[in-house]
Parts: sequence; structure tokens; C-alpha cells
Amino acid sequence: MRLINKLKFIVDNNVGKLAKWLRLVGYDALFFNGSNDSHMIATALAEERVILTKDTQIMKRRVVTSERLKALLISDDEPEQQMHQVIDSLNLDCQFGPFTICLECNQPLLERSKQQVKDLVPPYVFQTQSQYMECPACHRIYWRGTHWQAMVKKLKKFTQG
Ligand SMILES: [Zn+2]
Repeated sequence: MRLINKLKFIVDNNVGKLAKWLRLVGYDALFFNGSNDSHMIATALAEERVILTKDTQIMKRRVVTSERLKALLISDDEPEQQMHQVIDSLNLDCQFGPFTICLECNQPLLERSKQQVKDLVPPYVFQTQSQYMECPACHRIYWRGTHWQAMVKKLKKFTQG
């Protein structure tokens, strides 16, 4: 994996779908489910995360206006357009590290051999896929199946348009 562009995010619950999209391309994206903006800002500062939000009040905070903390105000309501905006505004690399972060837990995935997942994946998957990853937190097994491929295809469309 390349070491450039190691941005980390904290995703406000008003744009929550962005968290999965970002994880899909390999970005560490924490989902903020609280209601206290100050907690989100404190976490963002402590962990050097970029805030993604629709909340204009956050953009007016001094930590943000002084650029001590980076925040991006998301304008669109539609998740795919939101992702497009994030990619464009922050110049994200969508080839950064797909297939490296759990879409549910935001944990780095661990590589697993075919034998290790033999009893954990459907037989047709086992027959056709050779690369597997496991989440150490929820133990989901990931492979580059059709759903994953469809999402990646969509992302490629964003970056070309
Ligand atoms: Zn997980």
C-alpha cells in the first residue's frame, strides 16, 4: 500500500452513508453517532480526522475557521453525490487501499488463506475466489464478490466524471 494521502475521517450522522463508501476505498472513517458536536470535534482533533458534515454550525466554529481542524461541508442529499464531492474536494485516491477496512466496524482487515475460510464461506464462493480478508472485530469474511465489484465500478465512475 502506498503511504501517500493517509487522510482519516469522522463522519457526522447526517451524512452517515459516507462512512461505508470511504471504508470501501480504504480510508479510516469513524462514524459519529452522538448528538454532542463538541465530542465529535474533540475526537477529530485528538485523532487528526477530517470532519464530514451537513451541519453549518460546525463550519462556524473557531477551530474550523482557523483551519486548526479540517471540516468539509457536504452539500448534496444523495450519498453517491456526497461521495463525489468528498473525492473532488479532497482529491482522494480511490485506488488507495480497497478491500482493507471492515465496512461495518472500520477495523483493518487481516488476510486469510483459502483453507482458513473453507467452512466460513458459501461453497460457490470458495470455488471461485482465492483472496479473502477477515475483520478481527466482527469476524466477517470479505472477498471480491459481485457486490463489492459493483461498488468499486460505481466509484470508478465518480473519479472519471
Ligand atoms: Zn468488522
